[in-house]
Amino acid sequence: MPPKTADYDALRRDLIALLGEKGVVDDSETLSPFLKDQRGRYEGQTPFMIRPANTEEVSRAVALCAEAGVPLVPQGGNTGLVAGAVPFPEDGAVLINLGRMNRVRNLDPTDYSITVEAGCILQSVQQAAEAVDRLFPLSLGAEGSCQIGGNLSTNAGGIHVLRYGNARDLVLGLEVVLPDGRVWDGLTALRKDNTGYDLKHLFIGGEGTLGIITAATLKLFPRPRETAVAFIAVAGPAAAVDLLARAREASGDRVAAFELIPRIGLDFALRHVNGIEDPLAETHDWYVLTELASGQADGSLRPVLEDLLASACEDGLVIDAALAANERQAAAFWHIREGLVEGQKFEGGSIKHDVSVPVSKVPSFLDQALTLVKEMVPGIRPVPFGHLGDGNIHFNLSQPEDADREAYLGRWDEVNHAVHSLVVDLGGSISAEHGIGFMKVAENTRFKAPLEIEMMQRVKAALDPKNLMNPGKVVPR
Ligand SMILES: Cc1cc2nc3c(=O)[nH]c(=O)nc-3n(C[C@H](O)[C@H](O)[C@H](O)COP(=O)(O)OP(=O)(O)OC[C@H]3O[C@@H](n4cnc5c(N)ncnc54)[C@H](O)[C@@H]3O)c2cc1C
Repeated sequence: MPPKTADYDALRRDLIALLGEKGVVDDSETLSPFLKDQRGRYEGQTPFMIRPANTEEVSRAVALCAEAGVPLVPQGGNTGLVAGAVPFPEDGAVLINLGRMNRVRNLDPTDYSITVEAGCILQSVQQAAEAVDRLFPLSLGAEGSCQIGGNLSTNAGGIHVLRYGNARDLVLGLEVVLPDGRVWDGLTALRKDNTGYDLKHLFIGGEGTLGIITAATLKLFPRPRETAVAFIAVAGPAAAVDLLARAREASGDRVAAFELIPRIGLDFALRHVNGIEDPLAETHDWYVLTELASGQADGSLRPVLEDLLASACEDGLVIDAALAANERQAAAFWHIREGLVEGQKFEGGSIKHDVSVPVSKVPSFLDQALTLVKEMVPGIRPVPFGHLGDGNIHFNLSQPEDADREAYLGRWDEVNHAVHSLVVDLGGSISAEHGIGFMKVAENTRFKAPLEIEMMQRVKAALDPKNLMNPGKVVPR
């Protein structure tokens, strides 16, 4: 329920005095896009949205809301896929958008580090690193609009986890505004620091429930000097897993990405997305898009990939393959991968899962899950794709061609339950990279050990005793 005693008019006046008229938004037209979740499943409500320009303003605004007993929902680029950045009407929460905090505070190529404010768009962080001949390896489909604060708060994954780790692995230090408005200055470029609990990891993946990330010091890497990209038709998911193991060995662990693509996903993309071409002459059921990357431009990668594919072909793992001859062709292969999500949008309702299992169990998961959902919904059109290299499958299920969209989507929870049960039986996770947000709180509570939920609730209560920071997300109320 909205806090009954809160004086929103007084709070609004105080916030305008702090942030200026531009920093407080309450007209419904401007607010509208900030209140809808990315998938269009939820629409929130807020008395107003605030847009602070620096850490001091965030700190003072959070303190004002805390004094007024008004909850806050932090928001970055609003590209999250679990409705974590949506303020729900029952909370009366102020939306705090970090988009104005987009400065690079420090860039040190010698230290291989960059310090950026939370509102920096991911792509601009990549570009800032590139300008000093360094790589910031986090890369995902929404990189042109998601913000680093959102990336860290969701512990985002993306296409390079296999080589560089999740967002969590890319952080050296954080600056965070706590739920009472105090600022924790944990910004550091130290590579080693064992002076107690590593508190930054509470906020990374915390989805804004423990505090607001205002800045981060991130790790940079040498830029790849040479890449080799191939679009490969494989005999099936088991062959793809075998191929990955061989590729890691043959390349000296230089596999930067290894993505699974099903034929139906390619068909949808060919049908609906501009500029997609099938790189192979024949059609096949399963494909892998892989990229090898090396810090040395010695021409060694392409022969490694050619030899690997030749031997995998002899052993029946690979049926056909196209190696990108140049950057343009490599980009065309990646365009197929990026077009998978877009293509599905035109094929009616889609029930989504973002699951992971140990890499070796992906074939068994796919086998069982495909049988299961086909039995549950005859005519269903599964489009399982994604980060096979991390055992992370986006198990998306397009509706049967002639089905009623709303009736089909009405089965979302039922289908999720069945698929998630299978995932958990296989030792997997019901949210590999998108987080829990609002959408998966009940499901997470169902599958996680009660002791783990209790520990999460205790951490939440310790840092946010009044439950003012993104209430109702991640941990059950
Ligand atoms: C086309 C597309 C492709 C995607 N691909 C991937 C992918 O490959 N891998 C992946 O992991 N995700 C992916 N996503 C999901 C999404 O882009 C990521 O979750 C991203 O990290 C969210 O960043 P954001 O700035 O949009 O955060 P938002 O959506 O604004 O917020 C996400 C969560 O973080 C909290 N939050 C935001 N900023 C802060 C802050 N400064 N301090 C504290 N809490 C904050 C919010 O309250 C919310 O709970 C994809 C999304 C789209 C639309």
